[in-house]
Amino acid sequence: MNAKRIVVVGGSAAGPKAAAKARRLDEQAEITLVQKSAELSMASCGYPYYVGGFFDDRNMLLCTPTGVVRDPSFFMKAKNIVARTQTEAVSIDRSRKIVRCKDLCGGNEYDLPYDSLVIATGSLPNYPPVPGVDLDGVTTLQSMRDADFLRRIRDEKKIKKAVVVGGGLIGIETCEALHLAGIDTTVVELLPQLLAFMDWDMAKIVENHLRSRSVNVFTENGVSAFLGEGSKLAGVKLSNGTELPCELAVVAIGVKPNSALAAKAGLKVGSTGGIVVDKHMSTSDPCIYAAGDCVEVENLITGKPVHAPYGDLANLEGRVAGENAVLGNAAVFPGTIQTGICKIFDYTAGTTGSPKRPRAQTGLKMS
Ligand SMILES: Cc1cc2nc3c(=O)[nH]c(=O)nc-3n(C[C@H](O)[C@H](O)[C@H](O)COP(=O)(O)OP(=O)(O)OC[C@H]3O[C@@H](n4cnc5c(N)ncnc54)[C@H](O)[C@@H]3O)c2cc1C
Repeated sequence: MNAKRIVVVGGSAAGPKAAAKARRLDEQAEITLVQKSAELSMASCGYPYYVGGFFDDRNMLLCTPTGVVRDPSFFMKAKNIVARTQTEAVSIDRSRKIVRCKDLCGGNEYDLPYDSLVIATGSLPNYPPVPGVDLDGVTTLQSMRDADFLRRIRDEKKIKKAVVVGGGLIGIETCEALHLAGIDTTVVELLPQLLAFMDWDMAKIVENHLRSRSVNVFTENGVSAFLGEGSKLAGVKLSNGTELPCELAVVAIGVKPNSALAAKAGLKVGSTGGIVVDKHMSTSDPCIYAAGDCVEVENLITGKPVHAPYGDLANLEGRVAGENAVLGNAAVFPGTIQTGICKIFDYTAGTTGSPKRPRAQTGLKMS
């Protein structure tokens, strides 16, 4: 019997988990991981802590607990998985079961045939539709490249003032990181409170804690423009007219599922923009699974589909997709109660439950 060909698109959290699980269950399978960026298995949750100077070794974002960097040679030696980095999956031909790939260094294109395919293309950051968003100095903290950029800013110590646009989990963690880098930091949030998923009184404690550390907070204020001097960012204008001078702005207003590749292939995409999957992480094509930030899953309290872009879910979903890519629909991902947690200086704020208030449970504890 011919070895099963398993192709996994996306090489950060869900993708490598799917590939590794598939390998554990099928020693003979030909498993190929296709990854757009140069790095694999990035610990995105650690980006703010690298930027904030909690550790200096960039490889800690990329390595196993024993300190081995998860590069293509690691994937080959430890798992017999071919990892093609700097390679983009540009289209999927479902009738011929082929993924069209583009080598982003050489530019050549080629086909990868599959028997089972796992899509784990992650999410993309949202940007506010306002003037100046393309200025130098406006960034996100979404990729390794962003983390490298912000870490360089920390090390160079030239930037004096920054604005973080968005007071959600990533915005707040970024705020702490920039403040610890010695940058005078302001967070701007459109809603009346930070951490919109928390009860107002709990979110207020977080806001007060930020203020106590000399972080400036503006709530009920959107960004109406990024102001430039030439091509460089010079400030942020708020909807109430306030102008905040700054050389750096980090946009953290949420992410959307990166489902375009799946949609282009005719796979079903849901109301949240995420790829529709069943409890087996199977898409509308039984030969294709999907996992991680690119899918929508069921909220177990409301029964409704949600986009839940969390690393722990991406890992769990990836394992289920990998198992089912080998065994058929054996494993199940039951859904989520959307637990989220983040560190804010001396506090850790966490919540779990329904996305609509009242939350099932909220909590705040000293870390
Ligand atoms: C700063 C930050 C802090 C976070 N903190 C936490 C936290 O504390 N707790 C938590 O649970 N979650 C956290 N998250 C969220 C968590 O990192 C994500 O949920 C998780 O990384 C999603 O994994 P994924 O594999 O689905 O997608 P991603 O990690 O986005 O990986 C998808 C990969 O696919 C690649 N790709 C996309 N399209 C293609 C293509 N066509 N061809 C080839 N490759 C492609 C991309 O380049 C990307 O590397 C954080 C995220 C960030 C950015």
